Amino acid sequence: MKKEIFYSQLADWYECHHRILPWRETQDPYCIWISEIILQQTRVDQGMDYYLRFIDRFPTLASLAAAEEDEVLRLWQGLGYYSRARNIYKASHQVSEMPRTYEGLRQMAGIGDYTAGAIASFAYNLPHPALDGNVYRVLARLTDCEMAFDTSAGKKHFHQVAEELLDREHPRLFNSAIMEFGALYCVPQHPDCEHCPLQIFCEAYRHNTVDLLPVRKPRPKVRDRYFLYSIYLSDHQTLIHQRQGNDIWRHLWEFPLEEVDAARFEQESTRHGLVLTHQLSHQRLHAIFSVHRVQQLPTLPDTRVVRLGDLDDYAFSRLTLRALEQLLPH
Ligand code: SF4
Repeated sequence: MKKEIFYSQLADWYECHHRILPWRETQDPYCIWISEIILQQTRVDQGMDYYLRFIDRFPTLASLAAAEEDEVLRLWQGLGYYSRARNIYKASHQVSEMPRTYEGLRQMAGIGDYTAGAIASFAYNLPHPALDGNVYRVLARLTDCEMAFDTSAGKKHFHQVAEELLDREHPRLFNSAIMEFGALYCVPQHPDCEHCPLQIFCEAYRHNTVDLLPVRKPRPKVRDRYFLYSIYLSDHQTLIHQRQGNDIWRHLWEFPLEEVDAARFEQESTRHGLVLTHQLSHQRLHAIFSVHRVQQLPTLPDTRVVRLGDLDDYAFSRLTLRALEQLLPH
C-alpha cells in the first residue's frame, strides 16, 4: 500500500466531510477524556447535550474532583452504563492533572487502550492508534480480515494493523479522519464503495466481502430479571434506597425493590401496577411499579425518607425515571 496516497486521500475526505464537534475543536485533554467516555455506547446526537452540560458544570478536573459523586451521577442520569461516570469520578481523585503520556492515561480508572489512544493523539498529537467500533470496521474491510475484532486475539491483531497504518507524523489528523470515515462513510450497511476515496486500498471491495465484515464474536445470551418496585406515598413523602454491591446501577437510587423469579412476576403482573420492560446490553428487565398510599411510611432497612419535590436531587436509572414520568408526573 502506498501510505502517502492513502493518507492524503483520507485527509482530503476528512477536510471536506467531517462534522464540527466541540470535542474535536479542543486540545484540552480533560474535555477530550469526558467526551470519549460519554460517547462510548452513546450516539453523538444523544451524547452532545450531556457533554455540554457536563463541561459547563465541571469545566476542569479540579472542579470534578471537588464535587459529590451523587451530583456526577445525576448529570449522567439517562445515559446508562453508570460505571463510566463512577470511573470518571474515581479517576478525578487519582490524578491532580491529566497525564501527558499514553501510559499515564492508561493508569486512570475507566481508561482503556482506545480512550488512552484517543486522548494521547487528539490532545498531544502522540502517535498512538485509537480503535473504536468504526475504526475496527474500516480496518477489517481494508484488510479483508475475518477475525472477530471483539476477542482478545482480534483486538491484538487489529491493534497491530492500526499501528502499522498510523500516520506517525500526523496522528491527531489520522485518528480523527479514520474514525470519522468509519462513522460517516464506511458505514455498517451498504457503504457507497463505488465512489469511495479509499477503494483502491480496500481488499474487501476487491473480494466482494464488504457486507460480511467486520466479524463479531457471538453475542452472549440475554438474561431476564424480574423486579417488583413499591412506591410508598404518605404526606408527599416516599422511600428510596441507594443500590450497592456489584450489580447494575450501583450507587443510583430507586424505590424499595424485591427481585423475584419469572413465575412470581407472572402472578404479580395481574395486580395493579405499571409494567415496564427495559433492555440493557446483556439483561432484559421486567418491572412492576406499584403505588401504595399509606398513613405512615413503613420502616424498611437502608431506605431514606424524601419529599416528592426533592426526588430531582437524586440520580435514578432510566427505568425508574420512566416510571416516575408516568406515575408521579410533575
Ligand atoms: S470501498 Fe467500501 S468497504 Fe472499502 S473502505 Fe471504501 S466504503 Fe469501506
